[in-house]
Amino acid sequence: MIFLDAAATTPVRREVVEAMWPYLSGDFGNPSSHHSLGDAAAAALAGAREATATALGCRPGEIVFTAGGTEADNLAVKGIALARRAADPRLDRVAISAVEHPAVEESARYLERVHGFGVDVVPVDRYGQVSEEALAAVLRPETALVSVMYANNEVGTVQPVPRLAALARGLGIPFHSDAVQAAGWLPLDVRGLGVDALSLSGHKLGAPKGCGALYVRSRTRLEPLIHGGGQERGRRSGTENVAGAVALATALGLAGPSQRETATRVSGLRDDFIAEVLAGVPGAVLTGHPADRLPSVASFCFPGTSGESVLLELERQGVICSSGSACAAGSDEPSPVLLAMGIGAEVAQTAVRFSFDSSVTAAELREAAAAVRTAVGSVRTLGPTSSH
Ligand code: PLP
Repeated sequence: MIFLDAAATTPVRREVVEAMWPYLSGDFGNPSSHHSLGDAAAAALAGAREATATALGCRPGEIVFTAGGTEADNLAVKGIALARRAADPRLDRVAISAVEHPAVEESARYLERVHGFGVDVVPVDRYGQVSEEALAAVLRPETALVSVMYANNEVGTVQPVPRLAALARGLGIPFHSDAVQAAGWLPLDVRGLGVDALSLSGHKLGAPKGCGALYVRSRTRLEPLIHGGGQERGRRSGTENVAGAVALATALGLAGPSQRETATRVSGLRDDFIAEVLAGVPGAVLTGHPADRLPSVASFCFPGTSGESVLLELERQGVICSSGSACAAGSDEPSPVLLAMGIGAEVAQTAVRFSFDSSVTAAELREAAAAVRTAVGSVRTLGPTSSH
């Protein structure tokens, strides 16, 4: 099997399991307990916070551990917007891009539905990118928060985060970015990016599902979403997932030093794969930005097929990939991300995403490209619904 669905999730790295194991076994204490077992857990949590902060170039106190990327996005969008409006009732709008993950989009819609906020959606160009002009056009004195993702999960387009963040912050508006897909591939230095909040998820980079973190710049007001014992400095109550925090920190630490080299190597393999698919499959269309894209994502539309039929055919040939996002898998609706990029609904239904982890090889991608040629050819011959 060739696994090309790493943007959905990745296997847990052996080093990560080994780093977690003590906190699932002998050192299983509750970090809030006042005895030696609790102290050991608290020390591990502090170490994980420090290592995560190092990976992001921030202070340990600016890290809030969460149960994954979705929770980090919810905490950023709802937590910052609600806190700002509580301080100033005029701040009752949020601005998000048209290609956000549902964790951001639905958080904004919740603010609209339940708390009466206005939501301004920033349009993207045909590559899925937000321009400074497009963002500037929606910002208002009432904007409480801007959220634009670092890299898109369906098409891999990377946003010009430093420029967008500078624009928002220049107007005194906090800027959040969902870096769930970017982690491991792009620099995460939050000062360089100029963001006020940044979301991470462990399972996209070799840690288990259900662990993540939110960076929140110190002095940023944040209304907690989960109330209880006041853990995480009152920003996220609940007994901490010590092993999960250690896992996330370890995975970030493993990815960090080789990130630039890995990104360069995998980008080269990605470009060869894209060229082979475009040359081998008549009518294939690359989606997303041709250059500003994650090293790990090659996404296409294959007009005249259905994406789901191509996926099934590819799986038969031993290639695992997806139609876009795991969240939307099985949905008959065309991807809102592709529609926002101006791709017609019929073509959007033919989307297929290939996403790699750092272990991907040239041989695997050559084999996969050949499989794509055969799979699309057979779906087109037999008709788009033949594989259902
Ligand atoms: N944001 C993006 C861009 C994602 O790709 C994902 C996962 O698919 C998430 C957020 C949600 O992260 P998690 O699965 O850890 O909740």
